[in-house]
Amino acid sequence: MEQSNKKVQLKECPICRNQDLSLVINTADHFLTNEKFDLVKCNQCSLVFTNPIPTRDHLGSYYESNEYLSHKPEQKSLRNFVYRLVRKININRKYRLVSGYQASGSLLEIGIGTGELLNHFNQNGWETTGIEPNESARKYAINNYKLDVFEESKLTDLPENSFDVIMLWHVMEHVYDLHERMQQIKKLLKKNGFVFIAVPNLDAPDFKRYKEYWAGLDVPRHLYHFTESSISKLVNRYSLNIIAKYPMKFDAYYVSLLSEKYLGNHLPYFSALINGFKSNKEAKTKNNYSSMIFVISE
Ligand SMILES: [Zn+2]
Repeated sequence: MEQSNKKVQLKECPICRNQDLSLVINTADHFLTNEKFDLVKCNQCSLVFTNPIPTRDHLGSYYESNEYLSHKPEQKSLRNFVYRLVRKININRKYRLVSGYQASGSLLEIGIGTGELLNHFNQNGWETTGIEPNESARKYAINNYKLDVFEESKLTDLPENSFDVIMLWHVMEHVYDLHERMQQIKKLLKKNGFVFIAVPNLDAPDFKRYKEYWAGLDVPRHLYHFTESSISKLVNRYSLNIIAKYPMKFDAYYVSLLSEKYLGNHLPYFSALINGFKSNKEAKTKNNYSSMIFVISE
């Protein structure tokens, strides 16, 4: 491990410690700093990870943008209207998916953002617990929805075998220590409980289209770039398995829109619409959509 003040150059795979690594692509932080990063693949467990990665202390500085965290609900604009509409559809869809596996019970969501999804479960009779590292998002969820929301450190204090469902929606790619997080999940999950993990999918056709400009990469905030194979190998280490997978079709449009912006397209909406549609169409046969939801159980 080579360390500067702000970044660490990894010499081995963060999951399996193998040192046989190969370069996937050079990319950059198109969202905030323009700093360059590599995507490196472990030739043993197939995990693709960002290299170098920010040190734990310095990671927060890559999130220092008003745009990244939450769309302020007060602002009235067409963009916010569309955002809220899509969010509502997504909430209903996620709720239906989860309750198809488990009708009700105790639920832990890690990375709740401002808490709209967790609140929806809470309102429908679930016993809910949320984890959110960002202080202002956490406070918003607590004050606005009266939810039980805690900092990440709470994960070590929660009782063993206490959750029927654990959900991480676009969170796993941000987690600093995957082993630590998987140990916590395994410990907290009830026997025969379900874990829902949604991540950008590096096997998706839109990564092939946009390459280093694909917004699904989002380095260095995304530390890992998962595929079904690497998620499967990771959870297998904790005696868990992928039992089903589902597409997140809206993500193809949103990710295409951001990718078009990173490419310098000043009128990105039309291209995003076309390419989002194309991505979903191309993904149909292999079920390799821009973002995927993996359902995981014993
Ligand atoms: Zn590995």
